[in-house]
Amino acid sequence: MSNEKLEQLRSDLDAVNLQLLELINRRAELVQEIGKVKLKQGINRFDPERERQMLNLIVENNKGPFKDSAIQHLFKQIFKASLDLQKDETQKALLVSRKKQKDNTVVTLGPVEVGGGEPVLVSGPCSVESYEQVRQIGETLKANGLTLLRGGAFKPRTSPYDFQGLGEEGLKILRQVADEFGLKVVSEIVTPTDIEMATQYVDVIQIGARNMQNFELLKAAGRVNTPVLLKRGLSATIEEFIHAAEYIVSGGNSQVMLCERGIRTYEKATRNTLDISAVPILKQETHLPVFVDVTHSTGRRDILLPTAKAALAVGADGVMIEVHPDPDVALSDAKQQINIPQFNEFVAKLRESGLYKESAPVL
Ligand code: PEP
Ligand code: MN
Repeated sequence: MSNEKLEQLRSDLDAVNLQLLELINRRAELVQEIGKVKLKQGINRFDPERERQMLNLIVENNKGPFKDSAIQHLFKQIFKASLDLQKDETQKALLVSRKKQKDNTVVTLGPVEVGGGEPVLVSGPCSVESYEQVRQIGETLKANGLTLLRGGAFKPRTSPYDFQGLGEEGLKILRQVADEFGLKVVSEIVTPTDIEMATQYVDVIQIGARNMQNFELLKAAGRVNTPVLLKRGLSATIEEFIHAAEYIVSGGNSQVMLCERGIRTYEKATRNTLDISAVPILKQETHLPVFVDVTHSTGRRDILLPTAKAALAVGADGVMIEVHPDPDVALSDAKQQINIPQFNEFVAKLRESGLYKESAPVL
């Protein structure tokens, strides 16, 4: 007898499930129709006020046994699923996603096309220290047929007592040297209100690892047309990195390049752990150019060349490396910068590998 009762209840439950299914789908059809009307009228699909009204009406009529909070939770899920129904896969994708744009974003900087197939080098000192220091590096880059000159004028340092950079004066030096040798300037900006000022001097705004989730800085970089080189945060996941890039692109600046610069792990043999797998993942998931910073990821002069080769072999669009005329007396990163002869050898060996061919036209 009790078995029969159970069977009956189960069959009633199945019937109710099917009724619910029909009603939920009927609801979905209505939502789709509303979506079409809204699209015609140019109204935003998501309307939190309307959602609140619907939830209030539902809760007012709730006679239990479900608690109001449980009912609200269930209906929130239904609302969310209905809203998703109005968008297809492309609409749901981020702007930086490959799903949104199949073709690579190419950032043109003078004679180089970053992301256009031929890898490029970004090189220069960790910090801008003097005109003469940067001039020597500018000359070296030119002699090697390179275009992208880096140098930090605003330095985010771990200790407030360490050299903080020359600021705007440093940007002026970079610009002057770049103009003398026909180079393009990449330099880090750390303050949102400095972005506008920086566009007068730099060709690429770098956003450093420590600022990858400085959302106001990302938004400020999104409001200008100057290309941005965004470095991965010290402990940022690839997903967080991609979302940081989305901040800039959704703000209106599509010229964004990514830079893997090593992440924090327990390993002590290198300064950071170069996440080489991030390169093909970022290339697959986004359409943005991807760099690998071999200096900050390894912190070791003896493995710059093999890691640069590895980066290019897995599809990086470029490599960043720090070079200083006299690394031993450098005001930052003295241990890991290489000198000019070592740099010349690095470039020559990278070319020998066949993975790298960059050569700027002689002016
Ligand atoms: C830099 O490139 O100058 C720098 C400070 O690197 P990161 O932000 O990756 O630490
Ligand atoms: Mn450095």
